[in-house]
Amino acid sequence: TESTNLFGALFEAPPARQVVPVLVPLPAPGPYSYAVPEGMHVEPGSIIQVPLGPRQVIGVVWDSQPDDKLDPKKLRPITQVFDCPPLSADMRRFIEWVAGYTLSPPGLVARMAIRAPAALEPEPMIEGIRYMGGQPERMTPARARVLDLVGEEDISWTRAGLAHAAGVSTSVIDGLTQRGLFETVFMPPPPVVARPDPDYAAARIEGPQTEAAAEIVALVRKGGFSSSLIDGVTGSGKTEVYFEAIAETLRQGRQVLILLPEIALTSSFLERFQDRFGAKPGEWHSDLSPRTRERVWRGIVTGAVQVVAGARSALFLPFENLGLIVVDEEHDPAYKQEDRVFYNARDMAVVRARIGDFPIVLVSATPSVESKVNAQAGRYHLLHLPTRFGDAAMPDLHLIDMRRHAPQRGGFLSPVLLRAIGKTIEHGHQSLLFLNRRGYAPLTLCRVCGHRFQCPQCSSWLVEHRFRNQIQCHQCGYHEPTPEACPECGTLDHLVACGPGVERIAEEVEKHFPEARTIVMSSDLLGGVKRLRLELDAIARGDADIVIGTQLVAKGHNFPLMTLVGIIDADLGLANGDPRAAERTFQLLSQVTGRAGRTGLKSHGLLQTYQPQHPVMQAIVSGDPSAFYEREITEREKAILPPFGRLASVIVSAEGRADAELHARGLRAAAPQVSGISVLGPAEAPLALVRGRHRFRLLVHGRRNSDMQGFLQVMMEKGPKIRGSVHVQIDVDPQSF
Ligand code: ADP
Ligand code: ZN
Repeated sequence: TESTNLFGALFEAPPARQVVPVLVPLPAPGPYSYAVPEGMHVEPGSIIQVPLGPRQVIGVVWDSQPDDKLDPKKLRPITQVFDCPPLSADMRRFIEWVAGYTLSPPGLVARMAIRAPAALEPEPMIEGIRYMGGQPERMTPARARVLDLVGEEDISWTRAGLAHAAGVSTSVIDGLTQRGLFETVFMPPPPVVARPDPDYAAARIEGPQTEAAAEIVALVRKGGFSSSLIDGVTGSGKTEVYFEAIAETLRQGRQVLILLPEIALTSSFLERFQDRFGAKPGEWHSDLSPRTRERVWRGIVTGAVQVVAGARSALFLPFENLGLIVVDEEHDPAYKQEDRVFYNARDMAVVRARIGDFPIVLVSATPSVESKVNAQAGRYHLLHLPTRFGDAAMPDLHLIDMRRHAPQRGGFLSPVLLRAIGKTIEHGHQSLLFLNRRGYAPLTLCRVCGHRFQCPQCSSWLVEHRFRNQIQCHQCGYHEPTPEACPECGTLDHLVACGPGVERIAEEVEKHFPEARTIVMSSDLLGGVKRLRLELDAIARGDADIVIGTQLVAKGHNFPLMTLVGIIDADLGLANGDPRAAERTFQLLSQVTGRAGRTGLKSHGLLQTYQPQHPVMQAIVSGDPSAFYEREITEREKAILPPFGRLASVIVSAEGRADAELHARGLRAAAPQVSGISVLGPAEAPLALVRGRHRFRLLVHGRRNSDMQGFLQVMMEKGPKIRGSVHVQIDVDPQSF
């Protein structure tokens, strides 16, 4: 190409493609420049390999203009272009947007969208068979079924796949192969999941679902960006409604992403999806084997995998033709990633839909205050399902005033709750006892000298876990065997457990109901996700009388025999002084109590509380959350808190306390004067010491339309240089504030 500038005739411009910007998966502020070797073709979005120091890394050719003063001869060349679809322009814009919003290096955001080289190479062929024509000398009904199926078509099958499709054993296929009717061929492996069929099973939609489904399907048909909120009590049939939006998207030949907050939850979801669509969605979460992960990823970029159900990281998958995102349990705090790139997948999903120009559906029984406000303001289409589906009624909810119904000495279960559990067992039904605290006791101390066990690297107490005979730090994972003697005064057997965890509740339950089958469900169960899924299945089958669990059992599951939910400490989440505490507690308690009575059996929820007058408790038992939301929204509006104002937290950490504090003060001093934005702090962060690092926090508060990112950027640039062990982490829209 020749330059068309004034000197165009005199100077020949270098070919535009000789130097390209490349985003590498590192915390660099922007792309690096690389030379394109002669004969190599790359374009924006191409996935490539480049040298970086002594290493080879994966990168993406980016859009920004390369610096034309750079001499390609002095730049290192691209090593290799991978034979896989380039990242689409939409994906590149999305990555830029997330990086800009969260103030994260774009390379770290891009890293979530690209894979290791193995996944980028074509899949190895597998052995299959192909029909050669002809008939066996002796025809049997089984052989006839096989031959009917293969017919005249020239397609390859796997041996097992053909046997399965024809409903015969593989020996029938082998017999036909020996007789020369089939030849061995090499073929691409079958897709990792089968194609879902939008019309496999009839829609299950009636009553209030009909209108909601019609509206949402119309939005999908119309195409383009739209956002909807399905707000309906647990068991109202929200899933069936968004399944209709998925069916319509599949009919258009486009891909669907369903975000779910918890992996353990997906197992029953996958089956339910299969009942409706005849095939399971592709799964995406951290618990996949590397091979499955590669196969699913390849299916997504090629369009072969049409529906993905995944954890928040699935949002960054480079779909070939994404046409709908569903965010189930949209209020769930698990959507917030607080590691490397701090982002809320729910919020970023809306951005992705806007950039991709397709619909998004948020779903919850207890929407976030943000989404409620968006719906009220008309920014979201509101689809409301006020009642449970069919003859299932909401559980009868009652507060147990613990000031009047004290448990036995050393216990945590009030006599009222114990009686209810006993009755439930008599009826052959199940009880769920909820306590959002892992382990045996949150605090262990010595009765003689008062010594408390603290994590050596964090400002948190060590939690006793009796099953494992350990005391553990829930912050960093540090653990040691439970000591027999106090390390301070040496007294033997004088350690006392303070307060309950699920293991301690299990002990109390076993004392009162020695015959009952109890299961403790907590994320630190030995055996990981597999074990959790098995236990969940066992509970759903009725193989347990009493389930004692943390928030892990709160979400999504359908336990047909569960008719009693007991909340051990309903006040637990309210204590921490965070303005979001009321909202979170309300959501969690609604969800847990919503586990009861999903199949029409009369059910109860009992909430043990010391604050029966608290608005959260009143909202839960009234069965009408609207007063609670109104109050919460008014208070946020008055205090200019999200979504009426903006917040960011800046955490400065360092190995030395003084270094962290000094740097934080330096940042504060560098903050620009902008009307509508103010900085609070620095103060010690809520967790002042984590993994041996001291933490200070600045809280930046702004009015709704303030340029928070611009402000933070100036503060970081003008602030002190990062030195030594200092690290600064910005969290835009923090979960707690
Ligand atoms: P939610 O997602 O709101 O918690 P679900 O979609 O799980 O509610 O529905 C609750 C129960 O009711 C499920 O067992 C579901 O299969 C059943 N259900 C919902 N809608 C229908 C329908 N129209 N016909 C038959 N069963 C339905
Ligand atoms: Zn620790």
